[in-house]
Amino acid sequence: MIRPEDVRQAEEAAAGAFSRAADTERTCFARVLRAFQSQRVALAHFSGSTGYAYGDPGRDVFERTFAAALEAQSALCRPHIASGTHALAVALFGLLSPGDTLVCGSGLPYDTLHEVIGLSGDAPGSLKRLGVSCDVVPLAEGGGIDLAALQRALDKPSARVVALQRSRGYSFRPSLTQEPLRQAIAAVRAARPDALVLVDNCYGEFVEEHEPTYHGADLIAGSLIKNPGGGLAPTGGYVAGRGDLVNRCAARLYAPGVGAEIGSYEPGYRLFFQGLFLAPHTVRQAICSAALGAALFERLGYEVSPGPGELRADIIQAVRLGAPERLIAFCRAVQAASPVDSFAAPEPWAMPGYADEVIMAAGAFVQGASIELSADAPLRPPYIAYLQGGLTYEHGRAALLAAAQAIGPA
Ligand SMILES: *Cc1c(COP(=O)(O)O)cnc(C)c1O
Repeated sequence: MIRPEDVRQAEEAAAGAFSRAADTERTCFARVLRAFQSQRVALAHFSGSTGYAYGDPGRDVFERTFAAALEAQSALCRPHIASGTHALAVALFGLLSPGDTLVCGSGLPYDTLHEVIGLSGDAPGSLKRLGVSCDVVPLAEGGGIDLAALQRALDKPSARVVALQRSRGYSFRPSLTQEPLRQAIAAVRAARPDALVLVDNCYGEFVEEHEPTYHGADLIAGSLIKNPGGGLAPTGGYVAGRGDLVNRCAARLYAPGVGAEIGSYEPGYRLFFQGLFLAPHTVRQAICSAALGAALFERLGYEVSPGPGELRADIIQAVRLGAPERLIAFCRAVQAASPVDSFAAPEPWAMPGYADEVIMAAGAFVQGASIELSADAPLRPPYIAYLQGGLTYEHGRAALLAAAQAIGPA
């Protein structure tokens, strides 16, 4: 039985995280607002476009605003990028050529990238089939980047691109916060000034006061149905960073020559602008929900990562549940606490791009949007639930209570 004082005490334990999230929101929001003003965003930019959409002012001003908000020189940020995986694939194929080596500097990349790269399976069109090889540098003990091993991997003359992942993904490692990220980029520069750094920024946007581009990353990529869409963007993804590299990615997304000059969107861009405007606030709601989850489940005797007071570089809260029944009960409770599809009971299923069966609670307004409160997990020991998102703290709080009631103490 979860008592009201358990929740109150958990909120007290998370107070430091709440106040840090408030500070971060203020910093990020100021930058987002300046971006809107410097680009002179106006009502006319919300209108849609058709056909080729040459010179589409809504699309172009949105991309410039987005770039400024994410501390990037340039951005390709569009509804035509269908997901985070697609954005990362566009970035990888934009940067790498046959004969090159991709170095994954923060251990195995996110599950859905394995087939893109060719680390698993033999999907047509993978980087491997293109003749790009991949070296994975395992994380050091404790989950940080092994800088010496990363530099050794860069001895290979073909090493062209270093991919780093800011978020923990489906793993119990810590997320990559600003200081270790800055050190990793410095280590790459020292070893190989000609190598490019691509950061998988999924779940990381607006979680800390600066984006990886500020710390010298050449390119970042992510999804608009995660943090930077603010819960309003209906679809989309982005690649942002150095202008020449963004152009190379645009040539992959569309066609060489035309690049980012084309691409229409008839419904219009208001939800993208408005979502970006809300994003620092939405992300704070998600961080506060995650921090409460850390404190509450720690009180109940579960191992959590990060802990309630730990620095975060993403919005994910991992809770080690230890048993498949608990994992399923946890996800069902989160689903039942959702505004949409609350009556549905999630079942583990074989999701495209993932090696293990995955169970997912996602009672979201936008299908699969994980900036909305969601819980998911691959069904593999030690049965860790990954909880993220929450458009409002009150929703996160209510769902966490329900999940705690459903599984009880460890
Ligand atoms: C979500 C995510 C992806 C993939 O994004 P999708 O939109 O699910 O395709 C890649 N990397 C990380 C770290 C993610 O969190």
